[in-house]
Parts: sequence; structure tokens; C-alpha cells
Amino acid sequence: MSEAFDLTKEFASCVFTEEKMERYVPSSEIVKYRRCLETGESLSMETADAIAKGMKEWAISMGATHYCHWFQPMTGGTAEKHEGFISPVGRGRIIMDFSGKELVKGEPDASSFPSGGLRATFEARGYSAWDPTSYAFIVDGSLCIPTVFFSYSGESLDQKTPLLRSTRALNRQALRILKVFGDKETRSVSPMAGAEQEYFLIDKDLFNEREDLRICGRTLFGAKPPKTQELNDHYFGSIKPRVSAFMKDYEKELWKLGVLAKTKHNEVAPSQHEMAPIYSDCNSANDQNQLTMNILRQVADRHNLVCLLAEKPFDGVNGSGKHNNWSIVTDKGKNLISPGKTPSQNAQFLLFLAAFVSAVDEYQDLLRCSVAYAGNDNRLGGHEAPPAIISIFVGTELQGVIDSIIQDRSYDSAVPNPIRIGIDSMPVIPKDTTDRNRTSPIAFTGNKFEFRMPGSSQSISAPNTVLNTIMAQKLCEYANILEQTDAKNINNVLHDLIKDEFTKHSRIIFNGNGYDSSWVEEARRRGLSNYATTAEAMRHYLDPKNIALMEGNGVMSESEMRARKEIYVEKYCNVISIEANTLKDMVRREIIPAVSAFEGELCRTISYMKEAFTTVQEVSDVEHDTCTSLMKCNKKMVQLERQLERALAKASASGADDMSGYFHDKVLSLMEKIREVVNEAEVLTPDRFWPYPTYSQLLFSE
Ligand code: ADP
Ligand code: MG
Repeated sequence: MSEAFDLTKEFASCVFTEEKMERYVPSSEIVKYRRCLETGESLSMETADAIAKGMKEWAISMGATHYCHWFQPMTGGTAEKHEGFISPVGRGRIIMDFSGKELVKGEPDASSFPSGGLRATFEARGYSAWDPTSYAFIVDGSLCIPTVFFSYSGESLDQKTPLLRSTRALNRQALRILKVFGDKETRSVSPMAGAEQEYFLIDKDLFNEREDLRICGRTLFGAKPPKTQELNDHYFGSIKPRVSAFMKDYEKELWKLGVLAKTKHNEVAPSQHEMAPIYSDCNSANDQNQLTMNILRQVADRHNLVCLLAEKPFDGVNGSGKHNNWSIVTDKGKNLISPGKTPSQNAQFLLFLAAFVSAVDEYQDLLRCSVAYAGNDNRLGGHEAPPAIISIFVGTELQGVIDSIIQDRSYDSAVPNPIRIGIDSMPVIPKDTTDRNRTSPIAFTGNKFEFRMPGSSQSISAPNTVLNTIMAQKLCEYANILEQTDAKNINNVLHDLIKDEFTKHSRIIFNGNGYDSSWVEEARRRGLSNYATTAEAMRHYLDPKNIALMEGNGVMSESEMRARKEIYVEKYCNVISIEANTLKDMVRREIIPAVSAFEGELCRTISYMKEAFTTVQEVSDVEHDTCTSLMKCNKKMVQLERQLERALAKASASGADDMSGYFHDKVLSLMEKIREVVNEAEVLTPDRFWPYPTYSQLLFSE
């Protein structure tokens, strides 16, 4: 039997937590360090040296030999460059060395990371700087130090910096509002995130046989098997032993890294699963989600499985998302997205709710952009994922309250007895009402908003950066009004403000079925935007109001946004280009020859039949028809494959203004046509001829 795993002892054993800092760093230095965290001042070299020394001692006691600045470049993943602690002291001897300077600042060569033009070629240097708000941890013998990554001229080149800036902006504005409500105890507020991670598990040997999975992480063709998720027998079903062993293994790894992995279950599609941690502040939730994705992949490998994080690895089968649960919590543990018990608490909640509703309405496009990339385009609007139209579900009870405010009547009757915000009580809003609407892109679930559009492979930094910033913006606008109001008028002003905001922005609230085609029409009537693709969404990223928002809240400068747009668009085009080339290669080198080989066998059968029987025509009908259909498929595949080649060549030659539009309209649409023909050929070709594992083999392999 394997040794028992003592969770309470092992939890965060590989993390340099506060408790470990207290053990390894002199308390006088910890006091200075905490003061810097609070005030935002920079750390003195002395303190940095003391912390570095403590970190090193702890890391070495854990068997670490290296350290690395762990950062999150614009690739969407993480990057790390490992340096040994090793330092020679002469006569063939070494010591283990690590200084405050090395802790605080690194200098990875930025030239190989996407910079969107922010890094001039003559200045390739990029810097990584320690983010002391996130804990260092040990993975595979290296002490990993969470860092931000920026250019020589100080512009952010990563996902983390804007997120950190947005949490600061939200903190600043939320505190102003709390002050208006007479809150004297709250010293800081933090946005919280809980990211539910969906994924597929596939047998590694089968995975290796498919070039598309290996290179693109998703299948580019595959006929629908007789059974996928129709019987709903996988969702929450009992977990198979091989999968369960994998889950137990990754949980241990995550727990050791201080990730509060809590929930695990089978998802709707065969081979699809989900893990969810307990929520934490956005910054560590973001770091921990990156770690989680890495660990899921590594642990799967040990079990001869592959963890697919792609949004839509299989066409016609449910895709994978990453539901981002979001709320705002004070340092005293009070959730500001939770309805309170007293009229005044409720007034405060309604103000935050109004801010959220109007923020999402005003910045629909930016929120849509935060989840726009090639992989997620395959999933959004796929009738198992939210549509590309942004809306908010609030549920019946809260809708009742909002309606009564807008219509100046009491919430529980049509009698004109207006509810007075700040004076009257609200009905109790049940947490997590049972009529939860899974078709909505953003749902209020009692004390948080669940943003369901992010895709399974993406970093949660961009969506949370936008959520934090748009909320900060609205709270700032409200604070500007309320701070000017004297105490005796405050309830009236508050009432009018909330009423006005709900009246103006109610169009973004939709409690119906988001998958229904009539919603598209209804949303259009309401004037809501509907950007089905990344290409369409990204056209609005640099709208003046979005630049003003990001600049005004100190989250991103205009040049940082321009660079980001360039990176996103280029990545979109690159992903599609790689997929198109992979598809071309598979069709030309494997599928067309395989279909030809089977045609050969059919022709031989037909000619044997001709020899054996006199009434040839009748007996060879089946073989003849199959062969003719396959010949048609092959011909179409050759034609389409050539068209695809020309489209790709033209893309690189033309350098069109709207490259993403070109890739969507010309390249992706041809790939879809090829997919159809390949699927047609697949169902006519026996397994022994078909060169790739089929959907039924892949989806029922774990
Ligand atoms: P479901 O699948 O029913 O939506 P899960 O339990 O799978 O629920 O996931 C819910 C996620 O929301 C968890 O990560 C949980 O920690 C997180 N969560 C709960 N409360 C909050 C909150 N106040 N703020 C942010 N996230 C939260
Ligand atoms: Mg869940």
C-alpha cells in the first residue's frame, strides 16, 4: 500500500508561505516587507537580501538547486528561465548563492516573446520583477518566483501587470464608495476569482497518432460517432479507475503547491471532466490556474493520458470552458456582491449591482474581446456554450427588485408604494437559486457573478482585468456624485442614481434561454452587440472609450493596448495558419492515399466479381457506389486542398489590413469545407484503411 497522504501536513508544503517566511526571515525585515506591501513603496535592498536568504535556505532544505523568475508572457502560458544557486568559491568548491538583487529583478531576453512592437529591435532586453503579492513555490527542484514582465521602457509585456493594476484601481474606487456608506473599518478590498477548469482526457497512444491533436490540440476532422453525450450518462457519472487515479495524483500535486483544489467531476461529453478550486484573490487565482493547467498536463502524461485544454477538441461534442466566478471582498471578509440584511447594506449592494450591470452594458465589446481568440471562436455560440452576445442573468427575485425600483412600486405588489432605497428592506435573495440559467454568459449566483465565456485554455487574467477595470470606472463615476452629496440628501441621490442606472442599462439583463435563436433577434432589437468571431470583436478593442477606460484607471496605456491588439490578431492568424497547414498535410499525405488504397481494393473486388458471376451489374452495385462516392470525395479534397494552399499563399503575400478577417473568411471557411468531405470519406472507409483514430476510439479511450 502507498504511504498515507497527510493533507493537513502536505498542504502548501512546496510554497514559501507567510508562516515559512516567519521561520526563515528575521521579523524586523518582515515588518518592513509588509509595510511596503501596504503602502506600495519599493523594498530596500537590505530587506530584499534578507528575504532572498530565507527563501534560499528554505528552498535548499526542500532539495531545490535552482531558482527561476516565473512569468506570464503574452503567449497565454507561463515562462521560466532556471538559474542554479551554484556559485564557485575557488579550489573546486561551491556555495549556494541567491541575493536580493536576483530575487527582485531578472533580465530574460525579451526578443523571443510577443511584444506587439513595444520592444524595439535594438533593445531586446525585458525585465522580470518580483510580485511579492504572490507566493514563491518549488516545482521540480526549482524555486519559482512569480514575477511581472516588462520592456526596457517599462511597458507591460505580460498578462499579470494589467491584472495587478486593475485590482489596485478597483480597490481605490470601492474604498471611496464604502466611505460614503460610513464604513470606517475596511482598509482594502480585493476582487476574488474561482476558475472552474474543464478539460478532456485522451489516451496518449491514440493522441500521438493524430497530427492535428499533437500540433493543434484539437481535431480538424472526425465523423460523429454513433454515441457521444446523448444519454447524459457521463455528467456527474461515476469516475473510471484510471481517471480517478489521475485525479488523486494531480490533487496531491496541487495541494502541495497550495492550490485549494476542491471539486472534481465528470462533465457532459465523454472523456470530459472538471476541477474547481476554492476561490481566492484574482492575482493568486490567476497564478494558481496557470499552475493547475501545467500540473494537469504533466500528471496526465504519467498516466499515459493526455489532458486536452483546447476549447473545442471535437466537433459536434460539448466544448470546454473556464467559468470565472467573480466577486469583491473586503479585508474584513465582507462580500460586496452579497445582498445584506439591513436597508443600508442593501442600498450598498444595489449600488454595486447597478455598477456591474451598467459596466457590462457600456463595455460589452471590451469584455467580449477579453475572451476572443481562435480556440474560443470554435466554442462560443456552439449551443452548449454561451452565445457571443453578452448579457447578464439575475434571476426572478432580483429582477423583481430591479423592476420595482425602475417602476417606482413596491417589489411584492403592483400597488404604487415605491420602494425607498436605503430605508426599505429588500426581499431575501436566495443564494444560488435553483433556476440557474446555464445558457447565460454572465449569471448572478447569489453572492458572485459567474462569467462563463472564458475558454478552457485561456489565462483568466484578461477577463478579470476587464471586470475589475469596468467596475472601478463605474464606482469612480458614482463616488464623484456621492462624495458631493451631503448626508441628509444621500438616500434620495442614491435612489435616483440606482434607478437611473437600472433604467438606462436594463437591456443587458436577460433571464431567458441564451441558446434560443430568437434571442439573437431580440438582442439586436435591444441594440446589444453580437460579435461572433475574434476578427469582429477585435475591431472594437481600440475604440476611444476603451482606451480612455484603460488609461483613466491606470491599467494600460494606449501603446500597451495597441501592442496587445497586434499580438492578439497575429496570434489568431498564426493559429489558423498552423491548423490549415496541418490539415493540408494530413489530407495530402495520409487521407487521400488511404482512400485511394481502399478504392483499389474495391476495384479488385469488382473485377473478381465480374469473373465469378455473369450478372455482374447486380452484385457489384454496393462496391461500385462506394467506390464512386470515394472517388468524388478524393477529387473534392484535392481541389479544396489546392484552394487552401492558394489562400494561405495569398495571405502571406497580401499583408491585408484586416488579416484576422481574411483568415476567418477565406482560410477557416475552406477548412470547414474540407472537414465535411473528410468526414464523408471517413464513414465510407473501414478502420483498417483509415489512417487516424476515429472519434469513437478517441472519446471512449480513458
Ligand atoms: P458550479 O459548477 O455549480 O458553478 P462549482 O462549485 O463547480 O460550482 O464552482 C464554483 C466556483 O465559484 C468555485 O471555484 C468557488 O470557490 C467559487 N466561488 C464561490 N464563492 C465565490 C465568491 N464569492 N467569489 C468568487 N468565487 C467564488
Ligand atoms: Mg462547476
